[in-house]
Amino acid sequence: MTVERIVPHGFCAGVAAALKKARKLADASPGRAFCLHEIVHNSLVVGELENRGLGFVESLDDVPDGSPLLFSAHGVSPSIRAAAIARGMEIVDATCPFVERVHKAARQFAASGRRVVVIGKAGHAEVKGILGEAPGAVVAGSVEEAESLDLPSGTKIGVVCQTTVNSDDVRPVFDALAARFDAVLSGGACSATKERQDAVRAFDGDLLLVLGSPNSSNTRRLCEVARTKAVLADCMERVKEIDFSGVARLGVTSGASTPETFFEEAVEYLESLFASGDNRAGDGFL
Ligand code: SF4
Repeated sequence: MTVERIVPHGFCAGVAAALKKARKLADASPGRAFCLHEIVHNSLVVGELENRGLGFVESLDDVPDGSPLLFSAHGVSPSIRAAAIARGMEIVDATCPFVERVHKAARQFAASGRRVVVIGKAGHAEVKGILGEAPGAVVAGSVEEAESLDLPSGTKIGVVCQTTVNSDDVRPVFDALAARFDAVLSGGACSATKERQDAVRAFDGDLLLVLGSPNSSNTRRLCEVARTKAVLADCMERVKEIDFSGVARLGVTSGASTPETFFEEAVEYLESLFASGDNRAGDGFL
């Protein structure tokens, strides 16, 4: 019975850089600085920063004028940025460069007269920020949504992608759009997302344990793309509740926003569980 670490896992460069900025800001202005939305979608990371005195808000209305304000790795729309500047907030921008690249592509498509279509999840913070770059931009998260998009046939569209999209979904959704519209595609999943998804797709053991928060888009995608049964856990308590009986080869991975300390603690626990043979009790997971 083995526990296999799936590589790569854990923090991507964008999350690591955002976290560094957040810690610096929290330590410089404890109790005074705010982050608009979760810095990354991970409860352990957010909890650590709250303990350092960084406040998390969902709306600019909850931030006093002139406060230090951090934009999360997911980015914000130009209107949010302008409103924060107008209210004298000291902005620290932790938007990932890969997200900035998508914003730039959306602006360029809009400037060239193309209607922007985002392949991604409607309502996600990153997608909201991208939509704000182009008037009339819309979302198509699936082939079905692409087929039913309410735009005149032949419309010139520029297609961009949420960085944490399932990389297997991009081509079919784009093809469905291209069948109806004059469509041009820019980019796809970011390289960190794609590398983690490809590593998960290559694992052919009995069960994949994905560590991360359920509201993390890139973490949920790892469960989706797995060839084997996959289970998500956001804390050690949850890991300990899982029945691993019948599992001979367990793969462990984590989302791009999951701390390595959690990953190592979970793997250590699982290795000792498998070494003791305790995972063989019960009715069996499989
Ligand atoms: Fe940046 Fe990609 Fe990491 Fe998101 S998952 S923070 S886009 S590198």
